Amino acid sequence: MTQLQVQLTTELSEWFAKQVLGWFDQHGRKHLPWQQEVTPYKVWVSEIMLQQTQVTTVIDYFQRFMQRFPTITELAKAEQDEVLHLWTGLGYYARGRNLHKAARIIMDQHKGQFPTDFEQVIALPGIGRSTAGAILSLSLNQHHAILDGNVKRVLTRFMTIEGWPGMSSVEKSLWQVAEAFSPTQRIANYNQVMMDLGALVCTRSKPKCDECPLKNKCKALALGKQTDFPNSKPKKQKPIKFVYMALLTHDDSVYMYQRPASGIWGGLYSYPEYENLEQLQHFLVTNALGVTLEDLEFNEEHLFRHTFSHYHLDIQPVRIQLKQAPNLVGQGNHIWYRLNDEQPEIGKSAVTEKLLDQLKTGTFNDC
Ligand code: SF4
Repeated sequence: MTQLQVQLTTELSEWFAKQVLGWFDQHGRKHLPWQQEVTPYKVWVSEIMLQQTQVTTVIDYFQRFMQRFPTITELAKAEQDEVLHLWTGLGYYARGRNLHKAARIIMDQHKGQFPTDFEQVIALPGIGRSTAGAILSLSLNQHHAILDGNVKRVLTRFMTIEGWPGMSSVEKSLWQVAEAFSPTQRIANYNQVMMDLGALVCTRSKPKCDECPLKNKCKALALGKQTDFPNSKPKKQKPIKFVYMALLTHDDSVYMYQRPASGIWGGLYSYPEYENLEQLQHFLVTNALGVTLEDLEFNEEHLFRHTFSHYHLDIQPVRIQLKQAPNLVGQGNHIWYRLNDEQPEIGKSAVTEKLLDQLKTGTFNDC
């Protein structure tokens, strides 16, 4: 028996449902347009519109949509452009396209009647497990649990369910809780109120726990950790790469070359870089620079990290002082950049600038 199952007693489930249904009777939303003369079609359209969108925004869109497409038949007959036109400003247009596509499937496969079988509903485009459950429970009082973003927030807080809800193991636990708490009676009211509670009381950043019917047994509230739940998506550890960056100096100039247009720092001027000592050695020998690895100083104090969106780059700068400016092999566009004069305006990466400053201020003079 898992820890979660131990916590999910019948007594707790009954208490939970009683509390939220009591709150529904007093505070639940009952006057929204899709709550009047309820049909699966109306609930379907409203549920799709409400994904990622606030109730107050949806109301007008819903009414215009229903006026133009009062039935599934009207919706299926329309051109997609007209459906998307009515969706303009609501965002996430795939929702509108799927709604239209599903209406045509309902015409073809279900004689224009919204299916009442869960498996048939979930097979329609744009309808997942929670939306299918919401449509069938809210319109037909069929017994299905729901688990949209609002419900997830309430449940993860109430039970302090650890882990990012996007992970399948966490989602599985959440469905377990959602099902255990769903009452056999008044499922339509219960599901409605769970969404309302999440949207109105157990809000993302400032939950109004004082007004919450669940406050006496809410674990997150007891621990003062409401906003720690749901846990956020774990940040991926970025890989670390390493390069030696060669600061070739001659007289008062440092060598820079223009990087290829694609890839990191595309088209910007930079110093030659080498992934390992063999590559650096190869560079020194190929260009007959008259310098060997033994002549160089690898001062760890100069090592620094530059972070890109996908990885960290640890950079060990190595100053290589040359007696004369060589012709370097295969470096494309390049420049001997004078440290103390006016110089042409060239694009340089932040790292190039940083090392240029250090060269100018003499940080590398001890090398
Ligand atoms: S007590 Fe607070 S954190 Fe807990 S469910 Fe209610 S609003 Fe959310």
